Amino acid sequence: MFDRFGRKIDYIRLSITDRCNFRCRYCMPEGVVLVPHREILSYEELLQVAGAAVELGISKFKVTGGEPLVRRGCMDFLARLKGLPGVEAVTLTTNGALLAQEAVRLSELGIDGVNVSLDAADRETFVSITGVDQLDQVLEGISASVSAGIPTKLNCVLLPGCLERLASLARFAERGIDVRFIEVMPIGAGGALPGPSWDEGLAVLRREWPDLTPVDEHRGNGPARYYASRQLSGRIGGIAAVSRRFCAGCNRVRLTSTGRLKPCLCYGEGSDLRAVLQECPQNLLPALRAAILKKPEAHSFAQAGGVTERLGMGQIGG
Ligand code: SAM
Ligand code: SF4
Repeated sequence: MFDRFGRKIDYIRLSITDRCNFRCRYCMPEGVVLVPHREILSYEELLQVAGAAVELGISKFKVTGGEPLVRRGCMDFLARLKGLPGVEAVTLTTNGALLAQEAVRLSELGIDGVNVSLDAADRETFVSITGVDQLDQVLEGISASVSAGIPTKLNCVLLPGCLERLASLARFAERGIDVRFIEVMPIGAGGALPGPSWDEGLAVLRREWPDLTPVDEHRGNGPARYYASRQLSGRIGGIAAVSRRFCAGCNRVRLTSTGRLKPCLCYGEGSDLRAVLQECPQNLLPALRAAILKKPEAHSFAQAGGVTERLGMGQIGG
């Protein structure tokens, strides 16, 4: 469907849990106050929302969290979501620690892509960022995903002090993996960690790969701008969420694990679809449509007091 500003909304991010096995310092350094299980949408409820979304023309789904792979039954849910008529693409965002054991199953169920978050390729920095000593498991997960034939991308957040390690992360593109660098958004703990802009990151990467050139390719559902180098078989992507607003082309809405439909990452507003599902499920479709029609024109990340969302990114799903 189209929103009030003529934007085509065809992509939804479904957070299936607020729990995570990592403690990334820009996301949930102390964990989150866990919501009781009964307040988290069941898989049945998530599939009902997905069905309504399809009816409104949303055909691309990203399953996220918290860490989606820690929720029991995630694989069966992904398979059912993938099998829903009208669903064109189902992708997963994960920290990768549990990916190795699931990669073959993910491939068999026809997952359309896996994004692995990786902010450091050396063990010491990895531990200091994530709070866990699991770099080896994540690297195994990435390799298993690639070996299973799954289109696999890396997401790296442009944290303060990260410029010196960007090349080591970008080097994954030598293996044909797309590597995307994302500006820190002032949501949750990320608000206290403003990092470099994508332009600064790109300048550093060009010291290593001077021929990095923008390419006009569509390689996913999001706002990444991609660059190619003759020495890299994968692409380098930049997501300048803060320094360059790309709200005019925003195609997405988000569903938190408690069933709040968020039309924009920046603001606290949202529609409680869980209440609708429990009290009046026949109203789900109009409620979802009405929620999408509340999507604001743009975020206000750069304005003082502009962010009214109080949840952290781990509760929203990124
Ligand atoms: N646990 C999974 C993972 O890490 O990929 C899925 C959830 S996580 C919240 C989704 C994405 O949001 C990750 O790529 C993470 O790096 C990113 N993220 C978290 N906080 C962020 C922030 N403040 N700014 C930018 N990206 C952020
Ligand atoms: Fe967990 Fe992902 Fe947040 Fe890290 S970014 S704490 S892995 S939800």
